[in-house]
Amino acid sequence: MQSQTIAFDAGLLRRYDRPGPRYTSYPTAPQFHADFGEAQLREAVQASNEEPIPRRLSLYVHVPFCFSPCFYCGCNRIITRDLARGEAYLARLHREIALMAPLFDRDREVIQLHFGGGTPNFLTPQQLGDVVDTLRRQFHFADSQDRDISIEIDPRFCEPGWLPELAKIGFNRASLGVQDFDPKVQEAVNRIQSVEETRAVVDAARQAGLRSVNIDLIYGLPGQNLEGFGKTLDIVTEIRPDRLAVYSYAHMPHLFKPQKQIDGALLLDGEAKLALLQLAVEKLTAAGYVYIGMDHFALPDDDLAQAQARGGLHRNFMGYTTHADSDLIGLGVSAISHIGNTFSQNPRDLPSWEVAIDTGKLAVFRGMRMSEDDTLRADLIQSLMCQGRVPVAALERRYGIRFEDYFAHELELLHPLQEDNLVRFAPDSIEVTSHGRLLLRNIAMCFDRYLTPPAADAKPRFSRAI
Ligand code: SF4
Repeated sequence: MQSQTIAFDAGLLRRYDRPGPRYTSYPTAPQFHADFGEAQLREAVQASNEEPIPRRLSLYVHVPFCFSPCFYCGCNRIITRDLARGEAYLARLHREIALMAPLFDRDREVIQLHFGGGTPNFLTPQQLGDVVDTLRRQFHFADSQDRDISIEIDPRFCEPGWLPELAKIGFNRASLGVQDFDPKVQEAVNRIQSVEETRAVVDAARQAGLRSVNIDLIYGLPGQNLEGFGKTLDIVTEIRPDRLAVYSYAHMPHLFKPQKQIDGALLLDGEAKLALLQLAVEKLTAAGYVYIGMDHFALPDDDLAQAQARGGLHRNFMGYTTHADSDLIGLGVSAISHIGNTFSQNPRDLPSWEVAIDTGKLAVFRGMRMSEDDTLRADLIQSLMCQGRVPVAALERRYGIRFEDYFAHELELLHPLQEDNLVRFAPDSIEVTSHGRLLLRNIAMCFDRYLTPPAADAKPRFSRAI
């Protein structure tokens, strides 16, 4: 059983603060290649339909538009106030649904639908409702209690009156971007958002009967300090969302152009960032939140915390989820699908996605088929991220391997982490300790076959651990 506490050792965290993937998938997206195209995706869907027990489906819809640019942003988004662009996008999205849906057997239930962005509430409830209606007509939505329909909301552009409409459509979870309420920080990142407008959306979501509300915060933003971030944490714990994500700001302007607008003089050093993280961990745990893993906290009665307690937590491109073993269908520009043992991604630029849809093609531009080794490592990393342990004996049985032979090199890489008390070896497993819980990605990196040490002058492709 993994440790339920988090030990905060600044010296240790400083030493392990290095770039690494977030492992929403393994292998990670840089391994996708152009040889995986439409034909391979069709084959993968066909094979997935032939599974003896129909595998359930998760749907992800990407809405790329935002009204205003946040300077810290690393998402695939297009800044516009032209609502007509949303109309044109939706017309093609409906076409993409019509292209994809018939490929999947009708007995496969949709258990999860998520709208991400960008800003999904760039679209009106009416437009969102039309998309959900089309999906309901084309796919078989599960009736079960645990079926989720969720949406990321930018509270600055959401009228509280929209929430009852979203609830009527079937939305039962919402995730709100906040980042920091400190006015100086908001100015530095070009995202001015009041406590009142945020609280109004949370209240409206609760009154409308949504099952859970998440709030996103970021530490390490320009101009942040303990006092301001402490106030933000106090306000947020008082609003008391069911879930909280506290992400580290990764300043990588060579990858994310909007970040070039951030004043470098306002950026925090590693020490200051660590202090903010420590403050967040202390305040959130004191307020009763449980640490789920990889930046995520939840109230103990939330589905995620409950799922973690009974070993039923999973992780996919949308983050942590309670839904096991479903195939993921990504719709819209840049969206990623995970069907059977394959990954595939739609073009990341709008014109290429549009051309594919307009010519009646599945809009995949790259992907990959996982090898057996990939599947084994994906399984192992999933256990680490969700249960905080490597189930050695179970993996040996499942994959017919002798763990210490198969992973001899990886166990060597893990050795210093064991010495630093991030992991400990139990008879049938490797367990993450309270010191390792904030360093899950460093532990996972030991098992990532594709990670090669970067050249000395290379710019990092991944964000840092802290
Ligand atoms: S952070 Fe969110 S709202 Fe801001 S520009 Fe990026 S996607 Fe849009």
